Amino acid sequence: MRAFNFSAGPATLPTEVMLEVQEQLLNWQNSGMSVMELSHRSPEFAGILNETELDLRDILALPDHYRIIFCQEGASAHWDMIPLNLLQGNHQADYIETGYWSYRAIEEGRRYCNINIAASNRIDHFSALPDRAEWRLNPKAAYVHYCSNETIDGLEFFWTPDVGNVPLVVDMSSHFLSRPMDITKFGMVYAGAQKNIGPAGLSLAIIREDLLKPAAPGTPFLMDYHGQFHAHSMLNTPPTFTIWVAGLVFKWIKRNGGLTQMAVRNAEKARLLYDFLDKSAFYRNSVKVQDRSLMNVPFHLREPALDEVFLKEAELSGLKQLRGHRVVGGMRASIYNAMPIEGVQALINFMADFERRYG
Ligand SMILES: *Cc1c(COP(=O)(O)O)cnc(C)c1O
Repeated sequence: MRAFNFSAGPATLPTEVMLEVQEQLLNWQNSGMSVMELSHRSPEFAGILNETELDLRDILALPDHYRIIFCQEGASAHWDMIPLNLLQGNHQADYIETGYWSYRAIEEGRRYCNINIAASNRIDHFSALPDRAEWRLNPKAAYVHYCSNETIDGLEFFWTPDVGNVPLVVDMSSHFLSRPMDITKFGMVYAGAQKNIGPAGLSLAIIREDLLKPAAPGTPFLMDYHGQFHAHSMLNTPPTFTIWVAGLVFKWIKRNGGLTQMAVRNAEKARLLYDFLDKSAFYRNSVKVQDRSLMNVPFHLREPALDEVFLKEAELSGLKQLRGHRVVGGMRASIYNAMPIEGVQALINFMADFERRYG
């Protein structure tokens, strides 16, 4: 019996995919070997990598001039790789601060250039996105960086900022593939795998061809997007097993109606949960309604003293990993693609019952 797992990441994966992994674990396609045991230079693995990329391109309807790089580093490593690869001698970049993860990118980016924080919602305690009209962009910036879904604070952009001719760079880690997205509005998109793509150990970078230039002198060779692209993401041994599982997840998305259908299911799950939170005086989510994430739903109990009891009883009811991130406390339900609607309903039923008993 599998629990409903609300972890923000590494997160729940589709049970169907896990069963496929189990079935092929010892003997992948009658090769007598596990994917884990295949040489990354073998034609078999080349086939897996190629198919994984084609499925992702198909899901996103990605035009040819956008290149995909499979990286072994987590999303965090891109905070260094982006300036190293995209500054190209420029010393200025714009960053938008909307929560914990966009702030971490800013801190890391400061090692390489002068960062202009073009907009911030820190003063609102990260509870609403800054209006585009208030952004103070620098037209000479090498790029504009933002995070389109703040995993910890629970904010999501449902609009893509227009930043003119400056390349827009986005951290989509926690809502990548959750709904249709027009990648052509971006210079670069990146996402860590362990939220909505597959197991940990992989991140994806999707880069517009004209931005793929050799990185700054002195850049470690594995952090050079240009080099990694020309080596077909195999400058060294890639995370072969993780790439294979990500490929199975992409096929699962295709079988289940693609991003359009993911969007319908995700919107319905989030609506149920937020409606419940809003009707209750016992629980609260403080994010502005229009900016609430469909993937990560942080909430607090009116009585924080009950947090531990809530978590313990939730565990016993098969509702796992609901503890909020340490910087914000409270609870968080991450309801990525792989979370079935039944999981959200079970959570709501538990929460209603908990409120009746302790409210
Ligand atoms: C999880 C997360 C990260 C960090 O990912 P790592 O793979 O641990 O480096 C960065 N950005 C966002 C938006 C995330 O959700």
